Amino acid sequence: MDSLNFLTYEELEQIRIEFGTPSFVYDEAILRANAKQVQDFPNAFGLFARYAMKSAPTGAILRIFNDEGLGVDASSVFEVERAIRSGFGTELISLSSQELSDDFRYWLQDGVKINLCSIHQIHKFAKWRINEPIGLRFNPGVGSGGTNRTNVGGPSSSFGIWKDDLENAKKLCIEYGLKVERIHTHIGSGSDPEVWKKVASMSLDLVRAFPSVQTLNLGGGYKVARMDNEEATDLKEIGNPVKELFQKFAEETGRKLSLEIEPGTFLLAHACSLVTSVQDVTSTGSEGYRFLKVDGGMTEILRPSLYGAQHPIVIVTNPTQERFRSVENQVVVGHCCESGDLLTPAPGDPETLAPRNLLRGEVDDFCVIESVGAYCSSMSAKNYNSFPEAAEIIKKKDGTLAIIRKRQTFEQMVENEVVP
Ligand SMILES: *Cc1c(COP(=O)(O)O)cnc(C)c1O
Repeated sequence: MDSLNFLTYEELEQIRIEFGTPSFVYDEAILRANAKQVQDFPNAFGLFARYAMKSAPTGAILRIFNDEGLGVDASSVFEVERAIRSGFGTELISLSSQELSDDFRYWLQDGVKINLCSIHQIHKFAKWRINEPIGLRFNPGVGSGGTNRTNVGGPSSSFGIWKDDLENAKKLCIEYGLKVERIHTHIGSGSDPEVWKKVASMSLDLVRAFPSVQTLNLGGGYKVARMDNEEATDLKEIGNPVKELFQKFAEETGRKLSLEIEPGTFLLAHACSLVTSVQDVTSTGSEGYRFLKVDGGMTEILRPSLYGAQHPIVIVTNPTQERFRSVENQVVVGHCCESGDLLTPAPGDPETLAPRNLLRGEVDDFCVIESVGAYCSSMSAKNYNSFPEAAEIIKKKDGTLAIIRKRQTFEQMVENEVVP
């Protein structure tokens, strides 16, 4: 059975009393250790690691990674702004966005870097007449993701300049006099290490086509194992062959490329737990299921409903009042009036209920959902059923708990409404 990643019963009690549930709790020590591991990624001629901040953009997390020396991969002009507010210098931020908004030109003039992600973006950038070097994001024609929805390479993905448009992109950059200094590929979250290596080698072929390129950015997508049967990517294992490819490339071409990577999941996933309370228990009889209803759900964690993603779930009871509790198959559901608000779907199949073997839960038990640091707080069904956004808390290095995002108030939920 699953156990708590980093919280104790006493801390859960303290969280319930001081901050309430549901609350996301991050662990500073894990965040910092992950940052160090990422910076140890094998490389031949230098490495710069960026945090893909869309996985969890809260300011306190950004500040920790800034302190650890990471840069930022931003997905929108708004993320650029959040990173700057959290203390990042413009030169540490790079934007790869599906949407190149007009506002972004001012950030470029201030030194934020850009990877142009489509032919249209090349035209648009050229019109701005900004004399800064650029990166180009390509779709190498191969993708890999944990699910179809997290696969962002290959013919069914709209991300990046399609590989067959290489010559066209090159021609445009020459015509417009753009200096291409970076090639970027990112093929998906939870990608297969074999495919990742293959794409690294394909990306070097893209670099060959642009003699001015000095940096290859291979994106993120490193797998973490949330469940026992999942396999995590070993950064050394995937990094070492790529380091050799860079060395070979240098022998052939005399070009010593620096490497950039931009993990999100790898840095965040295991560093956060969602603390909820069991608020009701129902059963649909011997032919049905025992349901644990918790006071969080798709309003905090959408991944199970969206992808059939699996997260460890731990039922925690008061150890001083411990009675014998059996372990049973139970279905854990969220608080929304929506049958899709399911925390225990079948793997990869959000439609199917997959009862989990858990301690028999009762009202007021804690239900802790583990490894929810990446794409949970940042990608939820916020305010659905008019539940306010959950609080975020950090367990600091010294063990104390501190708030980093207050629970949303009712007022904040409705403040932009206007009656005409
Ligand atoms: C989302 C994203 C990442 C991070 O992906 P993870 O799977 O979280 O590591 C990196 N680069 C780009 C361009 C992205 O869009």
